[in-house]
Amino acid sequence: MVEMLASYAAGQWYTAADEGTLVLDASTSEPVARVSTTGLDTRAMVDHARRVGGPALRRLTFQQRAAALKELATYLDANKITYHELSLATGATRRDGTGDIDGGIGTTFVFSSRAKHELPDGYLLTDGDVEPIGKGGTFVGRHVYTSLRGVVLQVNAFNFPVWGMLEKLAPAVLAGVPSIVKPATQTAYLTAAVMRDIIASGALPEGAVQFLCGGVGDLFDHLGGEDVIAFTGSASTAAVLRANDAVTARAARFNAETDSLNCSILGPDATVGTPEFDLYIKEVSREITTKAGQRCTCIRRALVPESMVDDVAAGLRARLEKVVVGNPRNETVTMGALVSLHQRDEVRDAVAALERATEIVYGDPMSVNPVDADPERGAFMAPVVLLATGDRPEPHEIEAFGPVTTLIPYAAQADLGPLAARGGGSLVGSIVSHDPGFVREVVAGAAPYHGRLLILDRDSAAESTGHGTPMPQLVHGGPGRAGGGEELGGMRAVKHFMQRTALEGSPAVIAALAGGS
Ligand code: NAP
Repeated sequence: MVEMLASYAAGQWYTAADEGTLVLDASTSEPVARVSTTGLDTRAMVDHARRVGGPALRRLTFQQRAAALKELATYLDANKITYHELSLATGATRRDGTGDIDGGIGTTFVFSSRAKHELPDGYLLTDGDVEPIGKGGTFVGRHVYTSLRGVVLQVNAFNFPVWGMLEKLAPAVLAGVPSIVKPATQTAYLTAAVMRDIIASGALPEGAVQFLCGGVGDLFDHLGGEDVIAFTGSASTAAVLRANDAVTARAARFNAETDSLNCSILGPDATVGTPEFDLYIKEVSREITTKAGQRCTCIRRALVPESMVDDVAAGLRARLEKVVVGNPRNETVTMGALVSLHQRDEVRDAVAALERATEIVYGDPMSVNPVDADPERGAFMAPVVLLATGDRPEPHEIEAFGPVTTLIPYAAQADLGPLAARGGGSLVGSIVSHDPGFVREVVAGAAPYHGRLLILDRDSAAESTGHGTPMPQLVHGGPGRAGGGEELGGMRAVKHFMQRTALEGSPAVIAALAGGS
């Protein structure tokens, strides 16, 4: 029988004794690992975090926590070849794996470095200036942040088994709050490999991180007001977890990063022959083929001027024809598999639902000829481009979490704000145009519905990190459908795991406690 993945709980590795859930290789359906938490004592995990991990982290200053993160990232970087090999089993190409693995390690380095330069060598963060309150100057206030006394439960999605963990873990460590990491079952073996090294590195004090590899059991029963649930996944799971008593009755903080129908807008100035037209074609095709379109930030809605629909469809067709779908272990493959056959079927169902409002202009969701793989045993799917044929809601509401995008024609610039908003709130949008007036108008209408907006043109293209890539320095998250949460964004991310308290008193007392006068 294949290996049962262990959890790391209260200072020990725990392996469930039952058969658990069998996880298969995305391209071959060969067994990779088994996952179960049957018998795991989740109360002991929460207690351990509160009684051992939290105090140990809080004994370190921000500077010491930053140094620990650097040591951790360096250790993981030296061991990453193992992760890259395992990543292939998730269906990711080596290039996809780089975004997840090197991206996660790089994010940890960035958090460490930013903290080294921006956080004090102490235990408390001030926020804003001293606020004079009394007319005579004897009574002032100042906001401070201190570490929450609870635990961050990280619930992660299957598509970023490494980055998804590290981008939450790094700010939690800096905040001085211990984490319990719960990976998605489907790709838990990759997160488990990194977790084994996190523990082996000894970079973090005992209890700073624990690993719950499988179902959460009754863990939520033990969470309350000093705890944070940092969730990434589907909107439907977020809705279930948000309704738990831990959140509704005991006020655990709940941050959600969920699915979103991100749009990319082509400006009317970006006609065939302009650099922006080429950038648009490149960006949309890259988005739907990277990780086989399984990124929460992927372009699901391509908003293009009515008069340019045929040009865009032709441009995408020409580019997507060069995509080589297949087993990512083959060097010629440029797009791997979806994470599982189940996920492929879900995407096919979503495309069928989208077809009520669209027609296919490229690709066949039911047919693919993968390199070095059996199409029946691997979760392969060809890229699919749809064209909205009317003004129906489906393209704005249904997320096909795979290599799928929908072209949505717009008639006038005034339509763009409302069209972007029909996604109900998105993680990211992009505007591809070299017309500053157009960009200004669209940003004004679209910004309230987005966590991030990329403005792409000939001037920014060479250094642009792309529509789909969240950067540790900038906000990741979005309103409404995107979950209403916020992650990353530099040192602001650290404050999400801390309590802000308004201190009031005499200038001397406030200066002694928080600095300033
Ligand atoms: P999912 O089914 O919602 O699962 C997400 C996580 O929730 C997994 O760890 C899952 O564990 C866990 N979970 C499910 N039911 C639970 C419950 N009742 N109690 C506690 N935990 C529970 O999502 P997914 O299929 O893994 O990920 C794909 C979706 O995530 C897409 O819709 C995508 O758009 C979204 N996503 C969003 C972001 C973002 O940053 N906004 C990033 C990546 C993905 P198990 O796997 O063990 O069931």
